[in-house]
Amino acid sequence: MILVVGGAGYVGSHLVKELVEKEKVVVLDNLSTGFKQLVDSNAIFVQGDLGDRRVLDDIFNTYPIKAVMHFAANSLVGESVTDPYKYYQNNVAATLTLLKAMVDHNVKNFIFSSTAATYGVPNVDLIDEKQPNNPINPYGKTKLMVEQILEDFATAYDLHYIVLRYFNVAGAHESSTIGESHDPETHLIPIILQHLLGEREKISVFGTDYDTPDGTCIRDYIHATDLANAHILALDALLEEEKETEVYNLGNGNGFSVKEVIETCESVTGIKANIEYGDRRQGDPAKLVASSEKIKRELGWEPKFNLNQIIESAWKWHSSQNIS
Ligand code: UDP
Repeated sequence: MILVVGGAGYVGSHLVKELVEKEKVVVLDNLSTGFKQLVDSNAIFVQGDLGDRRVLDDIFNTYPIKAVMHFAANSLVGESVTDPYKYYQNNVAATLTLLKAMVDHNVKNFIFSSTAATYGVPNVDLIDEKQPNNPINPYGKTKLMVEQILEDFATAYDLHYIVLRYFNVAGAHESSTIGESHDPETHLIPIILQHLLGEREKISVFGTDYDTPDGTCIRDYIHATDLANAHILALDALLEEEKETEVYNLGNGNGFSVKEVIETCESVTGIKANIEYGDRRQGDPAKLVASSEKIKRELGWEPKFNLNQIIESAWKWHSSQNIS
């Protein structure tokens, strides 16, 4: 059985949908940002906190867990700057409790959701895993801290782990039963689509004076299902003992500016956006684009969705939601 911590969240629920096809799954989620209805009905759901040792002991004593996949974190760059305590507490301290419980219960395989924010402001067009880590916001720092904890746990306790550094996850499952939903929403693509559905008056573009061709930030958008499939490959590599400790980037390798993302949303939906150009948001690097060559080469991963398809799937899901 596999324990998926944070399986009721946006990314975690996409992973659970793929994973239940081949494994028995227990989801632990405190529903602080996730939604129970996103959890596939074939998974066992436990509502609780990953920092709560009693809940973890119960799960490890009840189910034969052979690996843990950890998606439960706060992940908003801006919020991490204004409320760092929340980030160090939830992302680092609670994760340490989870890792210690794993060690005590002799569970040796761990997949960790990390982020491109560990790289800070890299000076290269395509970021590979050899780029130095130099996070510029508390969110990126918390993820890097956990990566460092993992290195030491591997040495001391023989923990096997794979770290996946996500670039910008977007899109919805092909069934349109699950999609990206945060409250409040801060992510670019859902905000644009909510606006185009008439749920927001306008879109604010955060900064037009970045050192990029059109002055707006460039990001690498990857579909949640492509990301989920990478997790399955990583899990197989750990369980089949092909890998012990690895770090992989996960992105499409193509960068799109905020303006380009808005234009693509306009062309997919056929609706014109009302755009307001504003100041920079704290903590945003100008450009983050992945080289994912390592995971392609070593695990045979191949992303299937381009930006257009990502936005089409997100639009289908958003349009099917009855948000007033
Ligand atoms: N962004 C924006 N307006 C918004 C939300 C986001 O201009 O309403 C920009 C943001 O500054 C960043 C990019 O869109 O450059 C992607 O932001 P998002 O929050 O989706 O993901 P992040 O890169 O922070 O993980």
